[in-house]
Amino acid sequence: MDPCEPPFHERSRRFAADVDVLVVGAGVSGIYQLYRALEAGFSAQLLEAGGGVGGTWYWNRYPGARFDSESYTYAYLFSKELFEEWEWREHFAEQPETERYLNHVVDRFDLRRHIRFDAKVTSAVYDEPSGKWTVLVSDGTELRTQFLIAATGVLSVPYFPDVPGREDFRGEAYHTGLWPATPVDFGRKRVAVIGTGSSGVQLIPAIAGEVASLTVYQRTANWCTPLNNAPITPDEQAQLRGDFEAIRETLNTSAHGFLHVAHDRATFDDSKEERWAFFEKMWNSPGFSKLTSNYTDLMLDPAANAEFCEFVAEKVRGIVEDPETADKLIPKTHRFGEKRPPFVTSYYETYNHPNVSLVDLEQTPIVRMTERGIETADGVREFDIVVWATGFDFGTGALARMGIRGRDGLALEDHWADGPKTFLGVQTTDFPNFFFPGGPHAAAGNNPRYNGDQVDFITETLVYLRDHGYDTIEVDSAAEEKWTNMIDTAAAMPPSFGKISYYFGTNIPGKPRRYLLNSLGRPKLFKEIAKVRESDYKAFKLSRSASRDSRPRPATAAGAQ
Ligand code: NAP
Repeated sequence: MDPCEPPFHERSRRFAADVDVLVVGAGVSGIYQLYRALEAGFSAQLLEAGGGVGGTWYWNRYPGARFDSESYTYAYLFSKELFEEWEWREHFAEQPETERYLNHVVDRFDLRRHIRFDAKVTSAVYDEPSGKWTVLVSDGTELRTQFLIAATGVLSVPYFPDVPGREDFRGEAYHTGLWPATPVDFGRKRVAVIGTGSSGVQLIPAIAGEVASLTVYQRTANWCTPLNNAPITPDEQAQLRGDFEAIRETLNTSAHGFLHVAHDRATFDDSKEERWAFFEKMWNSPGFSKLTSNYTDLMLDPAANAEFCEFVAEKVRGIVEDPETADKLIPKTHRFGEKRPPFVTSYYETYNHPNVSLVDLEQTPIVRMTERGIETADGVREFDIVVWATGFDFGTGALARMGIRGRDGLALEDHWADGPKTFLGVQTTDFPNFFFPGGPHAAAGNNPRYNGDQVDFITETLVYLRDHGYDTIEVDSAAEEKWTNMIDTAAAMPPSFGKISYYFGTNIPGKPRRYLLNSLGRPKLFKEIAKVRESDYKAFKLSRSASRDSRPRPATAAGAQ
């Protein structure tokens, strides 16, 4: 760094930006980004649309909402003291505990004074001459920032299907992703739940005991397997504390960001008897280990996958007493892991309650909502409460609704009209100084781990810019194209597991069908970040904004990839 050059945060004050770094969204990634930016010496603020911290864990407070990653693997790892002092009650914590934890983190690290709540971003416009972003907030205020970091999440815009008459229903209506802070009274009510994704199948068993009747409207059955949750015993707590360094090392380096140990055998290495015994072990294993510790070819060989599906189907038939209901609950159109599998607690058992019934929307589709209930092809059922567990506009939903305008007023939603284009899932061309950790092309595994990698990379990048006297960073279009092609190509690789998941945007009518995650996951991200470091940020255009003395970029670091 030029010794005469004042540090970046001082220079930015000279140019009257309110902050160096403006983070949007107080979810797990946004809180971490705020912490890292402040720790690195930048001035930073965070804007949050909700009334408290938590993001997903603020809005999704429906009964039964809980982690399906192990609590201590989902938690922050940047502070040993934090890890040691917070004792998770259960291996898979319930939403209230997670919300308490995130509030604790914010207070423990004195972040709250940097956060503005009930502050929804309504537009963010890049100003070319100054290289800064002007951000308008729902409360009418305006902010200028050098770097805009949208940590707005991939599952943050609830989706309501366009069912005719949806607004006509006169009873209470809720969406799992927009759950009210005051508890909903289900007591002796006639309740309908529409949707059987991860949210629906958590909610259904949690309320079945309270309601007068529960009618589940299922369009597609899911491969649900047991979460196998349990309280964390004092001995386990002590072991977790003792193993912190090893746990951190595994979580920071493993492909999926879990502690699960991978299996070393393929399905047909074993006899049928051995396979079934192994599947039984999987059935009784915690959460995602059914994917991460299962036979190595589970997601590669359709015959192997079909074998596991048959095992799960047998389990369903064994639990659900009514054979017709059991059959409806067994997926017919997709394999295990093709859609994000839910992990459940007593879900299938719920259908043995006399007050619970299942409507198969494949056989009797919803026709419309009425003032008093739901009309399907076989008639009308009346309800006091309808819960929409119908998912989210995944990946790009929040970013496309923030009024983000890059170079020459380019709208992000137009730039991504055919699907997102990114580099490393953190930047896109024509939107300088704009980052989106935990957005599209990210999150293939235990989300906080992967999103945290992106936050770490962004923070390291900002420090690099400051140290090298740059104000502006924009990914080169060639690097973006290469990364985006990699995503599309990897997603299309055989065996084709179909394209019927929200991973491809197929749950939203009219949305482009493009893969929204990074199926090569963390190993690919780590590799590309290492290349960025080694090449001195060759994949990016670094510059000083035009309003300042221009200093050409040193030849070694210049140019496109
Ligand atoms: P989802 O997986 O997208 O499920 C939405 C459900 O609504 C599906 O069953 C879908 O049926 C149904 N649906 C959508 N439109 C419909 C329509 N017009 N008529 C009838 N049914 C309709 O959403 P989600 O359950 O909220 O879960 C989303 C993601 O959030 C999960 O995959 C997971 O990543 C995350 N999540 C995590 C946790 C956790 O960590 N513990 C808990 C909850 C959610 P189709 O399948 O036929 O489209």
